[in-house]
Amino acid sequence: MIVSTDAIVLRSMKYRDTSKIVTLYSEKFGKISVIAKGARAARNKFGASLEPMTHSTVVIYKKEHRDLHLLSKSEIVQPFFKTHVEPDKLTVGLALVELVHLVMHDEEENLHMFALLADSLRALETSERHSLNILFAFELKLVQQLGFAPHFESCARCGTDVLHNDGVKFVHVILARGSVVCSNCIEGHDGAGIRITKGVVRSLAHFASAPIDNVSRLDLDVQQQDEILALLQTYLQYHVAGARTLRSLSLLNVL
Ligand SMILES: [Zn+2]
Repeated sequence: MIVSTDAIVLRSMKYRDTSKIVTLYSEKFGKISVIAKGARAARNKFGASLEPMTHSTVVIYKKEHRDLHLLSKSEIVQPFFKTHVEPDKLTVGLALVELVHLVMHDEEENLHMFALLADSLRALETSERHSLNILFAFELKLVQQLGFAPHFESCARCGTDVLHNDGVKFVHVILARGSVVCSNCIEGHDGAGIRITKGVVRSLAHFASAPIDNVSRLDLDVQQQDEILALLQTYLQYHVAGARTLRSLSLLNVL
């Protein structure tokens, strides 16, 4: 069956002398692996369309009951040039595709996930400010789509509005419940939770609800960034099968 779909390149690996095995996140089939024969030859029909993060329209010769399909054509829709050359954008862009590669199952259509990934890469490409915010928002929107959205607005025990109550300075994130508990209610709770400051809770609530192209403006200090990075990593690993520390983020240390 010959099929055509929009797709974003998650990973591209050398195969034999001249070919590549490419994992795509496609609009019609979700995560799908293809072989691009001749893609490493000096002049080849695929050009730069198989670089990670690139959004392309692809034509695939798809065989039933196979894990690997044949890529016959690929044309760039959006190359995301800036993301490939600016180190902070590159780090975040690679983290987005790495995460999708880790947690999404093979050949399960998910239009919302495709749109989220494409929108996030577009937001990253055009963002003038804090690229890392796009990763945070992406992670929160990803867990929403997978059905594990955390609830940050109010204490899961007493219902206090933690975002707007001046008396609340800290909350505790209870991983198993995907919710927060205020300092008064944490006493005697069986799991201690992860303590985070109110500023961080507010930022997380913003990242979860704001459109992805609107999140990079929010200023965070380094401590808040580290707090959010660690919290979301722990949260993802707790709830989402396949999630682990993202290799792409090791580049963060040298920025
Ligand atoms: Zn409470």
